[in-house]
Amino acid sequence: MSFKTLSIIAISMLAITACQTKPVDATTAHTKAITIDTHCDTPMRFLREPFDIGQKHEAPSSRVDLPRMKEGGLDAIFFAIFTSQRERTPENYAKAYQMAHEMLDSTEKALIINKDLASLALKADDIYDIEKAGKRAIYLGMENGFPLNKDISRVEEFYNRGIRYITLAHTQNNDICDSSTDKKGAEHNGLSNYGKDVVKEMNRLGMLIDVSHISDKAFYDVIEQSNAPVFASHSSVRSICNHPRNMDDKMIKTLAKHGGVIQICILGAYIEEEDTTSLNYVKKEELRLKYNNWNFTSDEQRKQAWADWREINKKYPADLPSIAQAVDHIDYVVNLVGIDYVGIGSDFDGGGGLADCKDVADFPLITKELVKRGYSEEDIAKIWGGNFLRMFKQVEKAAEPV
Ligand SMILES: [Zn+2]
Repeated sequence: MSFKTLSIIAISMLAITACQTKPVDATTAHTKAITIDTHCDTPMRFLREPFDIGQKHEAPSSRVDLPRMKEGGLDAIFFAIFTSQRERTPENYAKAYQMAHEMLDSTEKALIINKDLASLALKADDIYDIEKAGKRAIYLGMENGFPLNKDISRVEEFYNRGIRYITLAHTQNNDICDSSTDKKGAEHNGLSNYGKDVVKEMNRLGMLIDVSHISDKAFYDVIEQSNAPVFASHSSVRSICNHPRNMDDKMIKTLAKHGGVIQICILGAYIEEEDTTSLNYVKKEELRLKYNNWNFTSDEQRKQAWADWREINKKYPADLPSIAQAVDHIDYVVNLVGIDYVGIGSDFDGGGGLADCKDVADFPLITKELVKRGYSEEDIAKIWGGNFLRMFKQVEKAAEPV
């Protein structure tokens, strides 16, 4: 062997050694990270049936409870106080307001019963003490601003009950802004004047503005209006899955430029385009029509619809996408804007769930996939909560001192 060949081998070996960093262990990375899921619809269950979050349940009918959060190494989750958008009549406003408070009452009660397992978190920093105490942190968000009923004082009223984000709209337009999926199209051409006041009030209080579900124009209006970063609590990437609920590249870049975070939603239809010929899809569409687009006339009807929905999932299970496909969305955001602007919002108990991630206990499998793709421990900590907490603290800091 010539000296030249030897030198090349030596240099190559040196280069290999220099590139070799300690291999990342998925279990260690997951345990070390502060893990936060920014969206689940579990409080809805409290209104449907007696449901104890302190007991272990089974997926797919239930995807979140405290024992499974512990099993899945999930430190915190945002419970969404969700009300679906109805026709804006005085009765429906009153009903949404009442339902929101009932869900809050039930969540409070559940946290009292399970005080050894979980605590309500109100500030970004609260998670550290709760995690140290070996408990789960429950944060509260409100999905759809319908219960506010154009009464700006209710923003603070719900803040005082623990709500820390508001998803401005849901699947239909409301008084605040246009939805990305309202079949009637735009009503306000983005954010309404009242919506601008809501944004201002949320900024003042240090509440997180959630742009998931709102129209593209409303998103840009919110960005222009807000003096703090905003975020998407559960949205995915439109370039991979062309759904109006997902964010396109320009929106993701704008969000990141303003310090916001997109929390990838692991709901099938937002991860890959739906097979509209599948029996699961067809039967659910029939159900939607049967219940007049989920406009229930009574609580009994709502409970029946829920039972029918579960029956369809049992009889005709959906062909769900995989964790690998969901992590493609994370990769995409990282390649587009860097590692600091992405996280996870499962939408569990509201439609979220993957073939190989059926509940919160499966979350370590997402970390396993991230490790497989070369993410470092530091990257994983950012994705699982670091990015979100950084933004949350910025929003708190931008608020008016009380
Ligand atoms: Zn949603």
